[in-house]
Amino acid sequence: MALQRTFSIIKPDATRRNLTGQINAVLENAGLRIIAQKRLHLTKAQAEAFYAVHKERPFYNDLVAFMTSGPVVVQVLEGEDAVAKNRDVMGATNPKEAAEGTIRKSFAENIEANSVHGSDSAENAAIEIAFFFAGIEIVG
Ligand code: UDP
Repeated sequence: MALQRTFSIIKPDATRRNLTGQINAVLENAGLRIIAQKRLHLTKAQAEAFYAVHKERPFYNDLVAFMTSGPVVVQVLEGEDAVAKNRDVMGATNPKEAAEGTIRKSFAENIEANSVHGSDSAENAAIEIAFFFAGIEIVG
């Protein structure tokens, strides 16, 4: 498999507990390279647009409130099979169901405040990367 890129967010529950470095270490130890990274405080409009696919879901308004409750760190990750590799290292959405050693098992507070986002397909990765980063900010 060729090098692939995916998009990741370290969520407000994790930045609040000063876990950025520990999460980055898990990503790097899994073979993912952080080729772009910046810390942002999302506006309501940005969070609503990013999660527009979940607009009809019952948790949408709470999710937008959570994602704007503190800083996030947005990232582009590169590696072999990066989309699937990042999903593996993140663990299940609900930390109660996440496997040992995954980021969500180690750090997530609950199904909403689950420490990280990761693209679920190469197509969505390209869309999400373009939402947050200019080409000049990505240094592979
Ligand atoms: N989420 C939530 N309640 C749910 C399911 C999801 O608050 O019942 C939040 C959670 O933060 C999750 C995000 O919505 O990471 C996006 O949900 P998705 O099903 O896409 O899960 P993911 O791909 O992040 O594992």
